[in-house]
Amino acid sequence: MESNICSFCHEPILPQYYFCPNCGTKVNSAPLSTTIGTQAWVYAFSIILPMILFIFVTKWPGVKYFKSSDPKVKLIGQIAWTLLILSTIFTIWLVYIWTENLIQSSINSINVDFGV
Ligand SMILES: [Zn+2]
Repeated sequence: MESNICSFCHEPILPQYYFCPNCGTKVNSAPLSTTIGTQAWVYAFSIILPMILFIFVTKWPGVKYFKSSDPKVKLIGQIAWTLLILSTIFTIWLVYIWTENLIQSSINSINVDFGV
């Protein structure tokens, strides 16, 4: 009989449980949906996402402003570039945090499987 242990209260729990019945800690993620509707949404999103990014990049006016000979217009371009770079760094940081959490929760579930 396979059994796991809750990472929070260390009570034994059945592997099919999503939450510990003793303390309510989340012990497993709910399985991902594999219905045709969900698949269609996931595939459509995968196709559309880069296109949306492309449209936004081509519509971004920062390049035009930055190339201007008018100092006031050029300053707007420089501020736009600075904001773009800062926002990019922030987004990369968010992706890093998100990935770290994903890896940590995977490690936690492996530890639970081994009863550590
Ligand atoms: Zn528990």
